[in-house]
Amino acid sequence: MTATLVELTASIVSSHAAGTEMSSDDLIQEINKVYATLKKLETEGAIPEAGAAPGAPVMTIKKAFQNDQVCCLICGKTGFKTLTRHLKQAHGLKPGQYRKQFNIPASQSLTAKNYSEARRKAANENNLAANLEKARAARAAKKPAAPKAQKEKAAAKPKAPKVAKARAPKAKA
Ligand SMILES: [Zn+2]
Repeated sequence: MTATLVELTASIVSSHAAGTEMSSDDLIQEINKVYATLKKLETEGAIPEAGAAPGAPVMTIKKAFQNDQVCCLICGKTGFKTLTRHLKQAHGLKPGQYRKQFNIPASQSLTAKNYSEARRKAANENNLAANLEKARAARAAKKPAAPKAQKEKAAAKPKAPKVAKARAPKAKA
């Protein structure tokens, strides 16, 4: 985080210095001032949890992953169906880096639960439809298959019990 602050300070001061005539003393003063202000903002500012570690999520993981939406732990943006694209576009992060940064368990999907379920369901339905279509096409192409009833009967044959009957009384002569 310190590196980020320094970088931020450098970019603020340099863009300021680009438009203003500044002596090196002015520059150093400005750097100190900007850095101190940023530091203060970082420690006292918008970070919700007191004593939160630098780079801590802006909300709890539990809050970030809801059934109908997921939220970004970096910028706090809400309402995503899935984070993958936002992470790449807004933060230049791969899902794996994001998980690592916030200790997100692999079991936690980066996609809203309802959304992934809807997608899975849709995929299943698509598969089902495709399979039905295939089956229908196959049936149409072939002659009627061998009588089904026989096959099913054979399959349904009860298996012989594995355990021998214990102490079955032998018929005495
Ligand atoms: Zn974000």
